[in-house]
Amino acid sequence: TRTPLMAGNWKMNLDHHQATHLVQKLAWTLGDAKHDYTGVEVVVAPSFTNLRSVQTLVDADRLGIRYASQDVSAHASGAYTGEVSASQLAKLGVTYAIIGHSERRQFHAEDDAVVNAKSKAALGEGIVPLVCVGEGLDVRQAGEQVPYTLAQVDGAFDGISADDAATIVVAYEPVWAIGTGEVATPEDAQEVCAAIRVRLSELYSPEVAGAVRVLYGGSVKSGNVAAIMAKPDVDGALVGGASLDADEFAAIVRYQQ
Ligand code: 13P
Repeated sequence: TRTPLMAGNWKMNLDHHQATHLVQKLAWTLGDAKHDYTGVEVVVAPSFTNLRSVQTLVDADRLGIRYASQDVSAHASGAYTGEVSASQLAKLGVTYAIIGHSERRQFHAEDDAVVNAKSKAALGEGIVPLVCVGEGLDVRQAGEQVPYTLAQVDGAFDGISADDAATIVVAYEPVWAIGTGEVATPEDAQEVCAAIRVRLSELYSPEVAGAVRVLYGGSVKSGNVAAIMAKPDVDGALVGGASLDADEFAAIVRYQQ
């Protein structure tokens, strides 16, 4: 049984005051609803500059909310100006690192080899990779979404042990559904999430495939999340825009209510 995971990717939004305020408001809202964090895991992904503030708040108030970085360097340390290492993030209490988001693939030319190297760097410091995969509109229109996405999965997991693989979270985010309001249908999400799980079974074992959480991302809102979560191979959501509003994100987290 996989614990559902709701992750808010804040992207390049919010200063550190706004970030801590949003975490506080989210914690209050979920606290009022007596949210069981072991039943549905809650993760937010602030900018690097805001991680320390979020850590301080989460530690001080012993919040059940976990936090992720939006990226991680493939390198351990040294002359890599502007990069942030997995060990630096581990010291900030980061649980997950989003890796290979389509915006990094598009604007920073990250390919599957980079995603793989970053995943290994994160795992080496005890940070769980939250690996993003998914096709663009041209691929979808050609009906090639499954093979395209599975090739990204193959690349991301290359050379990663079964024990490590079982901890990884995969987010299927069709690029045409990100920030467009164009949500994939629950059937679209299920098709590719199920195919990802079958591939993990082939690459590793049914046990690993059964352990890995596969999220859907792309225009998730409180109004459409329940139908997507009803699909058997969708284990959570990676939420962009809607995660910047505490009430809306709390409603997404509380999709079962
Ligand atoms: P939106 O929810 O804004 O479509 O963004 C999805 C996303 O990219 C999450 O990583």
